[in-house]
Amino acid sequence: MKRDYYEILGVGKNATESELKSAYRKLAMKWHPDRNPGDKQAEDRFKEAAEAYGVLSDNERRAAYDRYGHGGVSANAAAGGSGFRSGFEGFPFGDIFEDFFGNTARGQSRPQRGEDVQTKVRMTLEDAFAGKQVKVAYQRPEVCTTCQGDGARPGTHPAVCPTCKGLGEIRIQQGFFAMSTTCVRCGGEGQVITHPCGTCHGEGMVHSHKEITVAVPAGVETGNVLRMTGAGGTIPGGRSGDLHVVIEVERHSVFTRKGKDLVCRLPLSFAQAALGETLALATPEGEVKVNFPEGTQAGDVIRLKGRGMPEIGRAGRGDILVEAQIQTPTKLTKEQRKLFEQLAELEGTSLRPKSGRKAKGVRAKMSDWVKRVGQAVREWATGVVGVVSTPKAAKKLL
Ligand code: ZN
Repeated sequence: MKRDYYEILGVGKNATESELKSAYRKLAMKWHPDRNPGDKQAEDRFKEAAEAYGVLSDNERRAAYDRYGHGGVSANAAAGGSGFRSGFEGFPFGDIFEDFFGNTARGQSRPQRGEDVQTKVRMTLEDAFAGKQVKVAYQRPEVCTTCQGDGARPGTHPAVCPTCKGLGEIRIQQGFFAMSTTCVRCGGEGQVITHPCGTCHGEGMVHSHKEITVAVPAGVETGNVLRMTGAGGTIPGGRSGDLHVVIEVERHSVFTRKGKDLVCRLPLSFAQAALGETLALATPEGEVKVNFPEGTQAGDVIRLKGRGMPEIGRAGRGDILVEAQIQTPTKLTKEQRKLFEQLAELEGTSLRPKSGRKAKGVRAKMSDWVKRVGQAVREWATGVVGVVSTPKAAKKLL
């Protein structure tokens, strides 16, 4: 014995269209096979509700059902083979399903929002420090202003697609579900352009160059993205997409960034490191003094509190970290050498002989000797110096 359709949906005989729809929607959500996998009873309930709604949402069939009961609609129902007319065709299944299952029963739906576009902005660390108004040029898809986006030459109109009759999709019944595919003729638009617009060639959209001034806040860093709401692509009858401005902060010659801190190195001589020194450091907000204390070691870090990068939208600032880089001299003047030797002597750590002729190192002596031999050989070869038979003899001349 078949259950009463009104009873199945839990509504009264006088239920309005929207009451029917809402009742069916609840049941369909509850018993949908996707939510009750493998549950035969749920599937039956789902089919039962779909059948009831299929009949009652169709005014003609509802009238027949009201008059003759199941017998009034059973002839139709048998034709579909799946228990009720031709599957889901003929009643607004899509309207219900796309609300909660996405576009399961419908083909393409038109986008509601324009495309998001992206552009990049390069800036110096100084600009990132202070924040800056930046003019940004970019491209975005826009509704053609000549045809207002319908793609038809002004004065003409798009025609209803003869293939899909304006639906934009072709429905195919396959077992329990009606599948729909996008109409190939009109690409899902439901209409075809007979006289294309000269500006957009019938596309309805054009690529347009735009310029916008972006207020880049202080404290940005590479990879930050500023979203400019509504500055992206436009579409007919929907709202615009967004523009994403991707920030790239250039490398700085002095500072590297670690979060909100700025890190740099300053070179100090031995003497400066030993005696202590105050150096000037050029920062994004001008010169600041860095005090290296007496006895600064290589790698020691001086922290300049609150002198670093600002944080976006916050009051605090990072620090500047200055690392001491002690420079060992590579070429000493005579005087420097003397002083270092004196220092070494004072420290009592040196094994080196003193400077001066007598104290020349073994290496220096060797190289002097080689030079002198070379000179002698050359002189011998050119006959400047008498008759010398061999380089060995030449050595004796020295
Ligand atoms: Zn156009």
